[in-house]
Parts: sequence; structure tokens; C-alpha cells
Amino acid sequence: MKACVLESENNLVCKDASAPQVRLGEVLIDVKACGICSSDLDRVFKGGAYHYPLILGHEFSGEIVDVASDVPRDYISKRVVVFPLLPCMNCYSCRKEHYAQCSHYNYLGSRCNGAFAEQISVPLWNCRTFAPSLDFRIAALCEPAAVAYHAVVQGNVRQNTSVCIVGTGAIAVLCGIWAREKGARVIFICRNERKRIFLNNMGFEECILDCTGSEQSVKKLLNGEGADIAMECVGTDCSLESAILSLKQGGTLVLVGNPEGDKYLKKEVYWKLLRSEITMKGTWNSSFASYDDEWTKVIHGLEKSPSLFRSLITHQFSLDKCQEAFRVLSDEKEFSIKGMFYF
Ligand SMILES: [Zn+2]
Ligand SMILES: [Zn+2]
Repeated sequence: MKACVLESENNLVCKDASAPQVRLGEVLIDVKACGICSSDLDRVFKGGAYHYPLILGHEFSGEIVDVASDVPRDYISKRVVVFPLLPCMNCYSCRKEHYAQCSHYNYLGSRCNGAFAEQISVPLWNCRTFAPSLDFRIAALCEPAAVAYHAVVQGNVRQNTSVCIVGTGAIAVLCGIWAREKGARVIFICRNERKRIFLNNMGFEECILDCTGSEQSVKKLLNGEGADIAMECVGTDCSLESAILSLKQGGTLVLVGNPEGDKYLKKEVYWKLLRSEITMKGTWNSSFASYDDEWTKVIHGLEKSPSLFRSLITHQFSLDKCQEAFRVLSDEKEFSIKGMFYF
């Protein structure tokens, strides 16, 4: 089969790879679409991979084409998305079904081979089926959409709350979609005019340009008060500051973005955390627990309103164009929200 293999830092090639073995409990999937995550860019360009060679790709959808001897054959031809984390099932967190907190997990496309490949074999346990009416590309947004959904739940975003989202990456926009679905008023803080136009076209009319000085603009929109909830989706000092300053007294800060380095806060911003009694909430991955299955909720959301999500996919590539894909998506001058491989 063809696969896009990271051979070493900066060295991504599309080549023939051996077909995956289907172990007990697993299903063989023909990959149909696989998103390219900003963490994949770091794996390629910033030495962020655990080992080489590695097939990247953890945001995918596909069709089951074969099953292990212990898996019912009716699963063949089902369309699925895949929770990319392979939990140990033994540790304290796994026993509570907090799989994202597992202390001995494996991860498709990061610690082991992923879905930038024509086929992948994964445990049936990790799969969720979706309706044939849903486009494979929109289904492939399920993983980042579940991460965003979890963040919105962690922030207790609900009807009639105001949410200030700092950032315009795929996760930030997905947070905006879910927050709006929950009935919240959404205000974005974004860095450039093109992103603002994109957000306006998605129906997010309240977008404030620029990181610095955004505090007053947010307050002006919200009758002189700040937002109930701020979601930091970038990971820079400047975006963290904007998120904190946008909050009202007693507000909640949700930390979503991966930090680009050590975080530094000005004293006046730190004072705001104290004096305004801000609650800080970290969020990580998504819940796949049987009693709190965010993936099924997200699939229903994608199936119900695919048009809400379609415009996030700004770039599409075939697997043999993987070098071009990574060059384009890492180019700061290129407008992109989500790029993906489409088979
Ligand atoms: Zn990702
Ligand atoms: Zn575990």
C-alpha cells in the first residue's frame, strides 16, 4: 500500500509500505480522508516525532474492509471514525474510563503508525460508525471536533453565556461552532483581516482584530463587563493575556492551545487572576468513556449540520502530494484552516 512516511526530521516521503496486519480484536480500514494537524507539522518540521520511520495521521475516517477472526463480519463495509488513543485499560485512569489520562497509552500517528496511508488496522473498540450520508471528509473532522467539544464542556459553556475565543485555528473555530450550538454568544479575537472575513462568513459576526488592546473592545460589546468564559486556543503569551483580560469578574479561563514555549504573565494580568477570582481550567483530548461518549455526540452534530463544518476544509491533497501539503500548510502567508488528505 501507499503511505506517507516520516523518515527523519523534515523528510516526508510517499512510498510503498507493507500492508498492516490485522490482530485479534481489530478491523482493517480503507482510509478515505485524514486531516493534517498542526501537531503533524511540528512532527515533521520541529523534530516532534517519537521515532522514525513513522506514518503520521490521527484525524481520519474510512471504511472497514476486513475484520479479525473474533470480530463479527457485519462490520465489513461500515464507515467509521477512530479515537486515535490506544489506552492500556489497566491504569487508574483507564479503570475510570478517563482514557485521555492513561499513563501507558499508545497513539496512532504519533507513537505508532497512523492513517496517512491507504489502510490501517485498529481495534474495533476505537471505532465509531457514522451514516453513509456523511461525507468522509467532514467525518474526518471528528477528532479535532471532539477535542473542541470537550473544551467547551470543560468551560461549562451554556445558554446565555458569553464566550471569548482567542485564535482562529481549526480547534478555535470548532470551539466557536459548539459554543454557538450550546446557545452562547461567541466573540472571536483574531489576528488578521482574512481570518475575520472567514469567521464572518461562518456567521460569527463579532470578531475583534488584534491581540493587544482587545480587552476594551470585548468589554464594549458586553456592556462594559467582560466575557463569562475565555478560551485560549493559540498558546502564546499575547493570546493568554488577551484571554485573561477579556474575562469578567468571576469568569472562567479555558486553556486549549498547546504552549509554544514557557509562559510569561505581566504582573497586572496576574493581578487580574487574583482580584477577579478567575477560575482556570485545563482541557485535554476528549472523552471516549461509555458513560460520557463525546464522540457519538460529535458524530450526531456532524451528521445533522454538515454544512456548518464544510468550510473548515480549506485544502485537499492526494497522498503523493504530501511534501507539497506540508509546505503549503506551514506557509504563514497561505490562508488555511484545515488541510487533509483525500483518497
Ligand atoms: Zn490533531
Ligand atoms: Zn491506562
